This record gives sequence, C-alpha cells and structure tokens, in this order.
Amino acid sequence: MKSLPLNVNIDYDLCTNCGICVRSCPVDVIRINPETKTVEPIYDMDCMLCKLCEHDCPEDCIVIDPSKQVAHVLSWG
Ligand code: SF4
Ligand code: SF4
Repeated sequence: MKSLPLNVNIDYDLCTNCGICVRSCPVDVIRINPETKTVEPIYDMDCMLCKLCEHDCPEDCIVIDPSKQVAHVLSWG
C-alpha cells in the first residue's frame, strides 16, 4: 500500500479549523500553529496511530496513513 506523506494527513480543503482533533489527541500530536493559526500535526512522529482524531473529526478530513503499523497502543479503559 502506498504511504501518505505523514502519519496524520489533513485535507485543508475540508478542514474548518474547529480544533476538535487537537482536543482528541491523547499525546498532543496535533497543535495550533501559532503563526498560521491552523491545526497541524506538528509532532507527527509521536503519533501512535490510535485514530481518535480521525474518528472525532466532524468533516472526515483527517486520514491516518492506513499503511502504517500500529506500534504503540495506550492501555486505557
Ligand atoms: S477536527 Fe477536522 S475539521 Fe476540525 S480542526 Fe481537526 S481536521 Fe479540521
Ligand atoms: S491517531 Fe491518535 S495519536 Fe495520532 S494524531 Fe490522531 S489522536 Fe493523536
């Protein structure tokens, strides 16, 4: 399967910059860029592929690269 450029890929044609994904991410991968004021996967390499952001995005505009293997899973719940 062809890899996407990042673990966390945001379609900015659809993103409304609502910030829900920033609050969803348990490890703070996605932040608001202080200069552009847009959400960005600033710490993309820390993504643990849990897909909470993808699940919670109301615009369905986050894609976690499906070709990546889930390496780290938080054991909550
Ligand atoms: S949840 Fe979706 S629409 Fe909202 S800021 Fe994140 S990527 Fe954009
Ligand atoms: S997949 Fe999980 S760890 Fe990665 S950015 Fe989304 S919420 Fe954060």
